[in-house]
Amino acid sequence: MGQCPSCGSRTHRPVAPKGVRMAFAKDRKCAQCGTVWRVACPMWAGWLSVFVGLGLLAVGGWLGLDLLREEGLKQTEAIWLVISTGCVALGYGFAVVTGRAGRLEIIPPSREEEGGE
Ligand SMILES: [Zn+2]
Repeated sequence: MGQCPSCGSRTHRPVAPKGVRMAFAKDRKCAQCGTVWRVACPMWAGWLSVFVGLGLLAVGGWLGLDLLREEGLKQTEAIWLVISTGCVALGYGFAVVTGRAGRLEIIPPSREEEGGE
C-alpha cells in the first residue's frame, strides 16, 4: 500500500498509530530510511464514518426521546456516550470527505519515540 513519501521505497512495515482517536489503517515505517508516515484515509472510510455518526446520533436521539417520554433517566450516560461517539465519527468523516483530515502525513521521529514501540 503506497510507497515511502521520503525516499520512494516500497519496503515498509505497519506500526501502531500514536495519538489518534480513530484510524482505519496502521502507520507505515520505511525499511530504507526509517520515515514513519500515516497513510491517507480512503474516501469511502470518510463517508462510512459520516453514516455511522448519523446512525449513532439517530439512535441516541431516539433513545433520548424514549427516555423523556418514560421519565426514566437510568440510561442517560449510555445515551450521551452514543451521541458523543456519533459526533466524533461524524466530525471525523466530514473532515475526511472535505479534505481537512485523513491525508498522508509524515510523523516526525520525536513523536514516534514518545510512546515507545
Ligand atoms: Zn523511505
